[in-house]
Amino acid sequence: FKIPSPKNEPGNTYAPGTKERASLKAELERQSNTVVEIPVIINGQNITTDKVKQVVMPHNHQHVLANYSEAGEKELRDAVEAAMAAKESWANMPWEHRAAIFLKAADLISGPYRDLINSATMLGQSKTAIQAEIDAAQELADFLRFGVDYANQVYQIQPDSMKNVWNRTDYRPLDGFVLAISPFNFTAIGGNLPSAPAMMGNVVVWKPASTAILANYYFMRILEEAGLPKGVINFVPSRGSQVSDIVLTDPRMSGFHFTGSTATFQTIWKTVGENIANYKSYPRLVGETGGKDFVFAHESAQADKVVAALVRGAFEYQGQKCSAASRAYIPASLWETVKDGVVEEVAKIKVGDVRDFRNFMGAVIDKPAFDSIANYIDYAKESEEAEIIAGGTYDDSVGYFIQPTIIVTTNPNFKTMTEEIFGPVLTIYVYENDNLEDTLDLVDTASMYALTGSIFAQDRQAIVHLENRLSGAAGNFYINDKPTGAMINQQPFGGSRGSGTNDKAGSVFNMIRWTTPRVIKENF
Ligand code: GLU
Repeated sequence: FKIPSPKNEPGNTYAPGTKERASLKAELERQSNTVVEIPVIINGQNITTDKVKQVVMPHNHQHVLANYSEAGEKELRDAVEAAMAAKESWANMPWEHRAAIFLKAADLISGPYRDLINSATMLGQSKTAIQAEIDAAQELADFLRFGVDYANQVYQIQPDSMKNVWNRTDYRPLDGFVLAISPFNFTAIGGNLPSAPAMMGNVVVWKPASTAILANYYFMRILEEAGLPKGVINFVPSRGSQVSDIVLTDPRMSGFHFTGSTATFQTIWKTVGENIANYKSYPRLVGETGGKDFVFAHESAQADKVVAALVRGAFEYQGQKCSAASRAYIPASLWETVKDGVVEEVAKIKVGDVRDFRNFMGAVIDKPAFDSIANYIDYAKESEEAEIIAGGTYDDSVGYFIQPTIIVTTNPNFKTMTEEIFGPVLTIYVYENDNLEDTLDLVDTASMYALTGSIFAQDRQAIVHLENRLSGAAGNFYINDKPTGAMINQQPFGGSRGSGTNDKAGSVFNMIRWTTPRVIKENF
């Protein structure tokens, strides 16, 4: 059979006066006046535990959006057993029927539940309407539709045969269950981490981030409505340490799908290493972690394009994308123009409650994030090597608001130039035009990461040179564009070094990791 040819889901603009805007506003109003009770979901059963926690709006932290039950030791054990019990019938379900469930879920997300999941993403994760739309409505649907297509492509990869011999590859799911741990910053990633392994016939224990639970919960409900059998994906909001003790170290854990911090991924990898002799199979570890993503402008760059990339790349979604532009290298010959441009643009940025559609930025996700980002800003304020040319202020009295901040440093290895901040802070280093090669060395070595990066140049020889010189510095490399906003099936996403295993989310490469192929030779 033929899988329907996927297309990227078109986006709405939510422009004033449109019916899409009115409908989204009504749903925001409804969700703002409701407190949702979120259970743990194991084997299709809703379970309320005695540990109930709150979900608040980051831009209005006194406002409770939901209460969620946290899974404890018993629920985590039950989730593993439920997954294992569902395994055989799920793996044996004909592929087109598994596919149909995810295709239906994509249509529910981009159709009747678009406002629901967008609103939950806006209110729970403080995304503007546009940022929610490209994430929860478009990218999530794309992950599912293209994921089905990629899975189908994997099944077609078959060996050659000869007369009297038929060789074939049987793409079995992994020999156990998959643990998915998802981040707060993309509802789409929350959806993809459990879904990609499940498409390939795996069963999953899914721990969502506590700060994205509302949108992730609605996604789980949508999967159920689309017909996902009980126990295939088990939704267990929980504490990382317990998940590590109970789920990660279970001998049947055969795959781990992660997006989150580098430190957490390294801790998990060590735990897996310490337990390696206990696993039935070597677990597949797939992780996308941090970034310290660069924008490098060559002297032949168009200054206005650099300005636009810096402002959008650094400040959309408050800089909380792994791909966010957070360090920039500008040649002295362009600096005055770029400086005037970014200062002028940043002055126009409005920060506030995302329900007011005029705001370009909402709040950062929570108090620990706010404190950590504020510390970096204070560090720059106190340093003689840095000057703050825009922003630099913050206020958490109502929501966790941080103004878009630009630091200019004379030290290319300044702390904010090398460490991941995960907030609306951009650091710029101005290099002398004749110091190009040393500056390129800095771009390559200043951070431990290699996720995304952008170069700006008009001179073709310079583009060739920069592309070669920086070949190890980014898994997603942009020429004359911002380093954020990768699209499914257009720029498969991921990086190496401290940024992850580079298994490219949204690609055949990622899907193949969730299989353990068996090769069958049959003689006639
Ligand atoms: N894929 C996203 C982008 O290109 C970033 C994903 C992430 O933050 O993990 O902007």
